[in-house]
Amino acid sequence: MITTPSAIVAASADAAFDSAVEQLEEYLRYPAISCLEKHFDDVRALAARIRDDLESLGMDNSRVLTLDNALPCVAAEWLHAGPDAPTVLIYGHFDLQPVVLKNWHSDPHEPETRDGRMYARGSADDMGGWMSHFAAIRAWMEAGGLPCNIRLLVEGEEEIGSPNLERFMDAYPDAFSADVMVLTDCENPSTTIPGLTVSLRGLLEVELTCEALDADGHSGLWGGMVPDVSIALCKLIARLTDDDGRMAVGRVDVPDAWREGAWDVPLDTPTIREGAHLKNGVDPIPDRGVPPAEWMWRQPALTVVATTLPRPEEKKNALRTSASATLSIRLAPGQTAEDMLDQVLAALLTNPPGGVHVTVEQIGSASEGWLYEPKGVAFDAVDRAYEQSWGCKPVQVGVGGSIPFVALFGRRFSDLPLILNGVMDPRTTAHGPNESMDLGVFRKAIAANVYLYDELAKALHK
Ligand SMILES: [Zn+2]
Repeated sequence: MITTPSAIVAASADAAFDSAVEQLEEYLRYPAISCLEKHFDDVRALAARIRDDLESLGMDNSRVLTLDNALPCVAAEWLHAGPDAPTVLIYGHFDLQPVVLKNWHSDPHEPETRDGRMYARGSADDMGGWMSHFAAIRAWMEAGGLPCNIRLLVEGEEEIGSPNLERFMDAYPDAFSADVMVLTDCENPSTTIPGLTVSLRGLLEVELTCEALDADGHSGLWGGMVPDVSIALCKLIARLTDDDGRMAVGRVDVPDAWREGAWDVPLDTPTIREGAHLKNGVDPIPDRGVPPAEWMWRQPALTVVATTLPRPEEKKNALRTSASATLSIRLAPGQTAEDMLDQVLAALLTNPPGGVHVTVEQIGSASEGWLYEPKGVAFDAVDRAYEQSWGCKPVQVGVGGSIPFVALFGRRFSDLPLILNGVMDPRTTAHGPNESMDLGVFRKAIAANVYLYDELAKALHK
C-alpha cells in the first residue's frame, strides 16, 4: 500500500480527534456573544486564549488585533514553507449568537454530545469550522511543518455583521495577505455530502405605506365607499407574489445547466420540514418544476417583517388613516438592489387599490449578494482534497441569506480563489436553539483541511 505524506498526517490528525474535540469544548464554554455588551469581556478573554494556544501550537506572530470601538480579531501565521509555496489564509469567527434559553435541551455554553452531535451555541457556527483547521495545522506541525504557508484570521464580530472587518483589513493588511483564501463558516447539504458555497443572496428592505384618511372614520357609516388602508396594504403585498405566496417580482434567469444540477441537492420535503420546523401537515411551497435549491438560493424571496396593522388591543370599528409594512426582500445573487427596487415600485405604484396614496421607501443600505464561479487549479485541488477525505467532490451550494464578510472578501479579494466551506449541516440550527455539529462532519473537515493544504501547495506552487 502506498501512503502519501498527507495521508500519514491525516491519520495522525484522526488519532488526535478526541483532543481536538476537548479543545473545542473548552472554547465553547466562553459565552463570547458579540451583540451583548455584558459579554464583551468574554469575547476578549477568548481572543487572548486563542492567541496563547496558537502560539503554543508553533504559529508565529500570534496576536490579538484591536481597533477602537471594535471587538478584536486574532491573527497568526506560519510562513516557513518557502517563497515558492502559496500562502493560504484561513478565516473563521469565534464570536457567538445570543441564546434564548427557551427550547434548549442542555446548557448552550456547556457542550453535550448526544447521538454523535455536539450541542452548544457556536459548535458549528463557527467554532467547529475554524477549529477543524486548528486540528489540521497541529497535525502538520507535529509532522515537521506545513506544505504551504498559512495565515489564520479569526474575527470576533461576525455575528453582528462584521461592521469593522474592512477597517481591520485596512489597518492590518499583512494579516490578510494571501494567494488563496479558505473562508470556513458555511454549510454542507448533508452529513455525507460536502458543500462548496458559491452564492449568497443580497438583502433590500423597503417600507410600504398606504394612506387614505385624515382621521379615523366610522366603518359602519362609510364602509363600502371609503377605502380600508389595511386591505389596500394586503392587496399591494399580494401583487408582489404568485398564488403560492412566493415572490413573483424580480425573478431572474438561471442557467439550464445549473438548474439541472440543482435537482441533486438533497433538499427534499423531510429535510425542509425538519430544518425549517414546519408543522405536521404543512408542506413546503410546491416547487412548480423548479428545484428547491433554486428557490432558496438563486431567486428573490419576500418576507413581511413588520406592519402597523391594528393590533388586538387597538380593535375598534373604524377605517384607519394609514397602514404600513416593512418588506424584507432577498435579492437573487448578482441582482442589484436598484433593479429590484425599480420592479417593486412599478408593481406597487400603478393603479393603487381604492385610490389610496402609496409610498415606498428603501430602509438603510442594501446588502450585496455574491455569485461566484469556482474554477481553476485551486478548485481542482479542493476536489482532490474532498475526494480523499469525504470520498466525493463537494457539491456547489448557495446561501439564501446574506453574509456580510463574504461579500466583503468577494469585493476586496476578487482576484483570489475564495474557498467557502464549513461544518454546518441541515440539522445544525445555527442561531436557533440546540445548535449542534455532527462529529463525523468535524472529523471529515479536519481530514479535508489536512489534504487541502497539501493539494493547494502543489496546485499553486510558484
Ligand atoms: Zn458564522
